[in-house]
Amino acid sequence: HAPGRDQRVAVIGLGRFGYSLANELMRRGWDVLGIDTDPRLVQKYSDHLTHAAVADCTDPEALRQLGVHEFTSAVVAIGTDIEASILVSSNLLEAEVPNIWAKAISRQHGQILERLGVTHVVLPEHDMGERVAHLVTGRMLDFIEFDDDYALVKTVAPDIATGIPLGQSQVRSKYGVTVVGIKRPGEDFTYATAETVVQKGDVIVVTGKTHAVETFAELS
Ligand code: ADP
Repeated sequence: HAPGRDQRVAVIGLGRFGYSLANELMRRGWDVLGIDTDPRLVQKYSDHLTHAAVADCTDPEALRQLGVHEFTSAVVAIGTDIEASILVSSNLLEAEVPNIWAKAISRQHGQILERLGVTHVVLPEHDMGERVAHLVTGRMLDFIEFDDDYALVKTVAPDIATGIPLGQSQVRSKYGVTVVGIKRPGEDFTYATAETVVQKGDVIVVTGKTHAVETFAELS
């Protein structure tokens, strides 16, 4: 743990997303204040979280009473009720909570939150949908797209990458991608160097522009 770093976070909305997030934060040793309007959810998770409270966070006073203005991090895990998501985000901005994350259920919802001033907007359903589309249509075993247009892909090594040291292959010059990790069948992942010789059947992890890694992963 980074010393001196405030490891407390308020998670507002304990639906599927909010609870999964809160649970993972607890597992990492963070203190989590979970808040939901639904007493049944709060009751259900109260033993798993540092604190759990029933409150309607569209009410700024309710947030104040729970001390949320003293937190450095808060997550708005409300999707379906867009009005509530916007009001709660606006309350957190007003309370000057420095790090605010918010889940959005559509691009438009996300844009509204960004315009309000929320710095970290996540679109879990949208992102996961795109990611699964890559897996369904291609040979990729896993796909993660970072900020605009840069991706990390796990795929079975195409022939162009096999048989000769990576430094001598045309993987970077011709396809614009970098092999960063390699996994032989039955072994663990390890980092790749210019000397690494990838063999047929190896699984590799590749980074580069989204379009470049997609093209590369479609080679056989
Ligand atoms: P998921 O898809 O992750 O389950 P939902 O949007 O369905 O997300 O769930 C959001 C949760 O947020 C629900 O449990 C709901 O009771 C809670 N919630 C909605 N509005 C508020 C609010 N104003 N204050 C606190 N919690 C809220």
